[in-house]
Amino acid sequence: MKDHLPLHRRIAEFFRRLFAAKSRRYLCDDCKWDYGAACKRRERPNALVCPDYKRR
Ligand code: SF4
Repeated sequence: MKDHLPLHRRIAEFFRRLFAAKSRRYLCDDCKWDYGAACKRRERPNALVCPDYKRR
């Protein structure tokens, strides 16, 4: 699969993944889409990697 993210997003994503994996915290915990039926991803509520993650 081709990665369409611009470089600065890829770098940010790298550090976010690193932090998420190290701390074992789930992205969903502070994700803007973690309410009601806003997110239907299978990873929820324990996503460590998620392309739709957006900080609240
Ligand atoms: S978009 Fe991703 S990080 Fe956000 S709640 Fe859904 S699965 Fe979790």
